[in-house]
Amino acid sequence: MLRVRLDPIACDGYGYCAELLPEIIGRDDWGYPVLEVGHEITAEMLFRARRAVKICPRVALSIIELDQAVSVRS
Ligand code: SF4
Repeated sequence: MLRVRLDPIACDGYGYCAELLPEIIGRDDWGYPVLEVGHEITAEMLFRARRAVKICPRVALSIIELDQAVSVRS
Protein backbone atom coordinates (compact mmCIF):
# COMPACT_ATOMS: atom_id res chain seq x y z
CA MET A 1 0.00 0.00 0.00
CA LEU A 2 1.41 3.35 -1.07
CA ARG A 3 0.89 6.43 1.05
CA VAL A 4 1.99 10.03 1.12
CA ARG A 5 4.28 11.06 3.95
CA LEU A 6 4.38 14.72 4.96
CA ASP A 7 7.13 16.46 6.92
CA PRO A 8 5.16 19.25 8.64
CA ILE A 9 8.35 20.98 9.81
CA ALA A 10 9.68 21.37 6.27
CA CYS A 11 6.33 22.38 4.74
CA ASP A 12 5.74 26.06 3.99
CA GLY A 13 1.99 25.69 3.45
CA TYR A 14 1.61 27.07 -0.03
CA GLY A 15 -0.57 24.12 -0.90
CA TYR A 16 0.59 22.99 -4.33
CA CYS A 17 0.21 19.40 -3.18
CA ALA A 18 -3.42 19.84 -2.12
CA GLU A 19 -4.30 21.14 -5.55
CA LEU A 20 -2.79 18.07 -7.21
CA LEU A 21 -4.14 15.45 -4.80
CA PRO A 22 -7.38 16.73 -3.26
CA GLU A 23 -8.55 13.16 -2.58
CA ILE A 24 -5.72 12.72 -0.08
CA ILE A 25 -4.48 16.15 0.91
CA GLY A 26 -6.81 18.72 2.40
CA ARG A 27 -5.87 22.07 3.92
CA ASP A 28 -6.36 23.42 7.42
CA ASP A 29 -7.56 26.94 8.29
CA TRP A 30 -4.04 28.31 7.76
CA GLY A 31 -3.55 26.59 4.40
CA TYR A 32 -1.27 23.83 5.62
CA PRO A 33 -1.81 20.36 4.20
CA VAL A 34 -3.70 17.75 6.18
CA LEU A 35 -3.58 14.13 5.10
CA GLU A 36 -6.78 12.11 5.06
CA VAL A 37 -6.73 9.39 7.72
CA GLY A 38 -6.13 5.94 6.23
CA HIS A 39 -5.49 7.34 2.78
CA GLU A 40 -4.05 5.16 0.05
CA ILE A 41 -2.56 6.19 -3.28
CA THR A 42 -4.55 4.33 -5.89
CA ALA A 43 -3.15 3.48 -9.31
CA GLU A 44 -5.07 6.37 -10.85
CA MET A 45 -3.59 8.82 -8.34
CA LEU A 46 0.01 7.64 -8.61
CA PHE A 47 1.08 9.98 -11.41
CA ARG A 48 -0.30 13.01 -9.56
CA ALA A 49 1.20 11.84 -6.28
CA ARG A 50 4.64 11.57 -7.88
CA ARG A 51 4.16 15.00 -9.43
CA ALA A 52 3.21 16.47 -6.03
CA VAL A 53 6.40 15.03 -4.53
CA LYS A 54 8.46 16.40 -7.41
CA ILE A 55 7.09 19.96 -7.31
CA CYS A 56 7.07 20.39 -3.53
CA PRO A 57 9.46 23.32 -3.06
CA ARG A 58 10.42 22.22 0.45
CA VAL A 59 10.95 18.51 -0.24
CA ALA A 60 8.34 17.89 2.43
CA LEU A 61 6.48 15.10 0.64
CA SER A 62 7.43 11.53 -0.11
CA ILE A 63 5.71 8.33 -1.15
CA ILE A 64 6.19 5.37 1.12
CA GLU A 65 5.32 1.70 0.82
CA LEU A 66 3.45 1.02 4.05
CA ASP A 67 4.11 -2.72 4.05
CA GLN A 68 7.88 -2.06 3.83
CA ALA A 69 7.72 0.51 6.65
CA VAL A 70 6.00 -2.01 8.90
CA SER A 71 8.39 -4.83 8.06
CA VAL A 72 11.43 -2.64 8.79
CA ARG A 73 10.17 -1.99 12.30
CA SER A 74 9.34 -5.62 13.13
S1 SF4 B 1 3.74 21.42 -1.77
FE1 SF4 B 1 5.18 20.88 -0.11
S2 SF4 B 1 5.62 22.79 0.93
FE2 SF4 B 1 3.78 23.12 -0.31
S3 SF4 B 1 2.05 22.71 1.06
FE3 SF4 B 1 2.51 20.79 0.01
S4 SF4 B 1 3.96 19.73 1.38
FE4 SF4 B 1 3.91 21.87 2.02
